[in-house]
Amino acid sequence: MVERILVVVAHSDDQMIGPGGTLRKYALEGKEVHTVIFSFGELSHPHFKKEVIQQVRVEESEKADRFIGGKGVTFLGLKEGKFQEEFKPKELEEILLKLKPKKIFTHAEDENHPDHVVVNKLLLELYDKLHVQKKLTSDIYSFDIWRIFQTKKRINPKMVVDISETFFDKLKAIEYFKSQRVALVMLKWSVYLKAFVAGFLHNTRFGEVFDKIR
Ligand SMILES: [Zn+2]
Repeated sequence: MVERILVVVAHSDDQMIGPGGTLRKYALEGKEVHTVIFSFGELSHPHFKKEVIQQVRVEESEKADRFIGGKGVTFLGLKEGKFQEEFKPKELEEILLKLKPKKIFTHAEDENHPDHVVVNKLLLELYDKLHVQKKLTSDIYSFDIWRIFQTKKRINPKMVVDISETFFDKLKAIEYFKSQRVALVMLKWSVYLKAFVAGFLHNTRFGEVFDKIR
């Protein structure tokens, strides 16, 4: 059976900026990569405060997904800053039970963006419920978007993915998010530095590092 991977994020580009190299690598290995995005990013992207319409966000995410060989993006359409209030577990539960992903990727619980933290919490609450009910068993990995060095000592086991072969595809995938063009150069430098540091620390050219949280 084909191995399924699910990435669950807050904003329309988080899946590429975070684990994009790993997702591309898995897609090339023939795994099915699915994406769930909590918001449409309809107000402004909280990272860059640039106003764009929903449609642009959706198209950018879908184009980037096709480029990396993903199997599609589902938008939950929740308002930024209101995930906790607006979240209805049913839709995500259906996706989880339909896909039964082997691996799930999501934001770290101590990220510095409140929407990221809430996504982590809501996903884990739902997963733990389904796991106790013996409906779902997945490995869950978290990633940081902005932190280049890990500042806190975390006790979770690490998974290091060598993305030397897919790092430049990750950068290309990020270029599909043209509505953030102003910030793209800065963003790419930070993505580059992060992958380089992770690679340096783990003896590969470029790497992505995850905490195994379930
Ligand atoms: Zn985000």
